[in-house]
Amino acid sequence: MMVAPVPINEKERLAKVAEWCVMHQQHSGELAALVDMARSFFAVPVCLVSIVGECQQWFSAKAGLDLQATPRDVSFCAHTILQAQPLEVLDATCDPRFADNPLVTGEPGIRYYCGAPLLVENRIAIGSFCIIDTVPRPPLDQAQRTMLMAFGEMAMQIIAGMRRNNFHDQATGLFNRLKLECDVAAGLERGQPLTLLAVDIMSAEALSGIIRSLGYNFAHDLTLQAKARIASQLDNGLCLYKISPTRFAVLLEDAENVLPLCQRIVAALQAPAQCHQIPVLLDAGIGIAPISPQGEDRNSLEWMRRAVAAADTARRTAGRHAWYQPEVDAAQRRAFMLLASLSRALHSDDELSLHLQPRIELPSGRCRSAEALLRWQHPVLGEVSPAEFIPLAEKTALMANLSLWVMRAVLRILGCTRGLDFSVSFNVTARDLESAGFMDALLHALQEQAVEPQRVQLELTESVLIEQPEEVQQQLLRARQAGIVIAIDDFGTGYSNWAYLTQIPASIVKLDKSLVHRASSGGREALLVQSLAGLANELGYRVAAEGIETAEQLVRVCAWGCVEAQGYFIARPMPAAAFRAWFDDTQLAGSVA
Ligand code: C2E
Ligand code: MG
Ligand code: MG
Repeated sequence: MMVAPVPINEKERLAKVAEWCVMHQQHSGELAALVDMARSFFAVPVCLVSIVGECQQWFSAKAGLDLQATPRDVSFCAHTILQAQPLEVLDATCDPRFADNPLVTGEPGIRYYCGAPLLVENRIAIGSFCIIDTVPRPPLDQAQRTMLMAFGEMAMQIIAGMRRNNFHDQATGLFNRLKLECDVAAGLERGQPLTLLAVDIMSAEALSGIIRSLGYNFAHDLTLQAKARIASQLDNGLCLYKISPTRFAVLLEDAENVLPLCQRIVAALQAPAQCHQIPVLLDAGIGIAPISPQGEDRNSLEWMRRAVAAADTARRTAGRHAWYQPEVDAAQRRAFMLLASLSRALHSDDELSLHLQPRIELPSGRCRSAEALLRWQHPVLGEVSPAEFIPLAEKTALMANLSLWVMRAVLRILGCTRGLDFSVSFNVTARDLESAGFMDALLHALQEQAVEPQRVQLELTESVLIEQPEEVQQQLLRARQAGIVIAIDDFGTGYSNWAYLTQIPASIVKLDKSLVHRASSGGREALLVQSLAGLANELGYRVAAEGIETAEQLVRVCAWGCVEAQGYFIARPMPAAAFRAWFDDTQLAGSVA
């Protein structure tokens, strides 16, 4: 078999294939109708629109064939694209180029082939419109050849129409993301290093807020104003794309003037936009990412993600434009990876577990309660701290499931320690208390499993009141009325606003470990923490101290009037079985401290 020679202008030809966006294209009804029509007209079993890519030929439309693509090596059309006239093969078995071609010797058994090249600018052929028969045929007469060429031209017109529809953002009339992808692919094919600017005019949340309160028309007009302001800063020849509802893009071949351009765009977007007589401040950020013809950029859309990630970072900087930084991105990707694997973890048997850390009573040293702390053994990343994944989960709907998982595990532990004078606390977040769902589930589970509510403590930080104080208060009152104990966690790290705190029906205040540690240095700091503990005591809270790491700290917090203590000096958090052994040992010994 003779593999078709590669055209001398192959690089340019492949750039055209990319530009016309015809590889792996979606199904088109019009093209399908056209190949059906040609099949009937020529009375052949197979008719195809074949696009010849770097390694494959792709059938954009096909009649009478199951295949969607074949390797380029065996493609008849790879020969057709070498010429501007139709290529006709009357009997493939007699043609040395094709006699041992697997498409001839095997399925679909090609004997006759005639393909008209699909020509774009500069008479470059991106593929062919071809008819195929499984028996030899006489040559087409001139009228038939003209007709086949005409079918090819009609196919190109349909493809051009699809490109027009596919390449434009309806709302702004600008080129869209698909066109940007094609332009980048074409640039990289030419070996051209590129620089992409992703210009965010505001966050997606801000846009949906505007749509919610002012409507679609307002958001549309605001976007058009942003478009005009950005476009006014572009030098001749630079094209503006609209790549998402809040995001424009500019593609540069030369990174030299990129920073002055960014500064101009930022300045242009800074003045409030007057839209329907309402002044609106945009919240712009420009991400700058280089795109390299070497490496992975030719085969993936990573470059787009990098620019978009940088734009997000840029919005939080004073200059509002930032180059892509792999370190920042690595943190974001890790966060994304954690969130993406968290829902799987929730359904696996062995990734999540609870550790228990004892809390002892002062001054007796008896342990009557423990804090349940979540542990995650990620299959690839190893142990991930809750201090890392809980704040991430809190931003998503996964938090609700995570809290339910912890709650159920805590109730199982309490179910196994029935009869013991022992309670377990666990941490809940604002999200858990901002609607009735979590409390409904907790109260229901307590009842169903006949666990006394007094054996459950909820730990929450004062920040739970920030968003929806009334709803949170309502849920906490339900808990309190049912007999559940409420503790304010990490006390002393937030605002520690007493008026605020009295809105939480808590009976325990847990002094944060940072306070306990700071007080170790003595002086005014120690006095301050001592007063804080004293005040909490006087207000009727039971005061617990967290993060006790030394005997001195334990003595000190005892002197402050703390009635409970927790920390590595007493015991580290441990799996439930280890905790049970520790508990039995220390109870036998009478006390811990
Ligand atoms: P937290 O609720 O304040 O828990 C106490 C943290 O301090 C735990 O960290 C514990 O291991 C650590 N710790 C205990 N004693 C000492 C000590 O003596 N010295 C020092 N330096 N640290 C000590 P961990 O387990 O890494 O948890 C961190 C935070 O993650 C928790 O702080 C809590 O806010 C959150 N968290 C843990 N599990 C859950 C959970 O199931 N649900 C929710 N919503 N949050 C959780
Ligand atoms: Mg806690
Ligand atoms: Mg704490």
